[in-house]
Amino acid sequence: MEINFTGSRVLVTGAGQGIGRELVKKLVAAGATVVALSQTQSRLDSLAKELNVKTVCVDIGDWEATRRAVESIGPIDCLVNNAAVALLDSFLNVSPDDFDRSFAVNVKAIINVSQVVVRGMIDRKKGGSIVNLSSQASQAALADHTVYCGTKAAVDQISKVMALELGPHNIRVNCVNPTVVMTEMGKIGWSKPEKAGPMLSKIPLGRFSEVEDVVNAIMFLLSDKAAMINGVTLPVDGGFLAC
Ligand code: NDP
Repeated sequence: MEINFTGSRVLVTGAGQGIGRELVKKLVAAGATVVALSQTQSRLDSLAKELNVKTVCVDIGDWEATRRAVESIGPIDCLVNNAAVALLDSFLNVSPDDFDRSFAVNVKAIINVSQVVVRGMIDRKKGGSIVNLSSQASQAALADHTVYCGTKAAVDQISKVMALELGPHNIRVNCVNPTVVMTEMGKIGWSKPEKAGPMLSKIPLGRFSEVEDVVNAIMFLLSDKAAMINGVTLPVDGGFLAC
């Protein structure tokens, strides 16, 4: 199955490193015109040296700055809301600041960025496709992940309402829900053997996800090959959530 994005303008948030960066590379290879959004200018500069992409540097936790930045981008056919933070602590130590920052970046920013992009999609009457990065943490309790789990549960449910309301405009909205991926974010929670071991033992395929496993799922859901798929939360978890 060949996935082709020739003629499509795709916006990827959190494109500086990890899953977002690899996704940008794969989208460009598949013919997309990509706008790469992230918050660290140096990472965007190195991406733009490697690939022909437009870059946008903004902290998506800042509602007004993000709105201005995304409004300046122009028409977008496909959107991947990938940027997120993982601020981990035990339930008793959850702070108001970590709560507010996590929900601002992981949840409110999806609404903000998507509102701007979707208004353009509706005006152009050409439909569109959105993939939101959720997590197995949206559906499974993980120690020290109180706020992160809460944000990802919100992402799942917000995405379903988006699918319901935007479907009549031929705009599809789906989630990808990975297990652990050893990116910089993955290392925060899972690099210690005493954390990784018990998690690995609960994954029937016996391994964590590779970045490519997640990127392939995003590419599929974003593309026309998934033309009848709307409102799903797709685990990329080796069977973790099935057990
Ligand atoms: P990384 O931490 O490796 O990369 C996250 C990217 O998001 C970075 O490029 C970072 O920016 C960007 N970003 C973070 N905060 C902001 C912000 N406020 N404004 C703009 N950009 C921001 O994470 P992953 O690649 O691992 O994660 C990607 C997605 O996958 C996330 O939604 C995550 O929750 C989800 N996920 C990850 C899992 C894992 O184990 N890694 C498991 C399940 C889901 P910059 O580089 O510019 O600093």
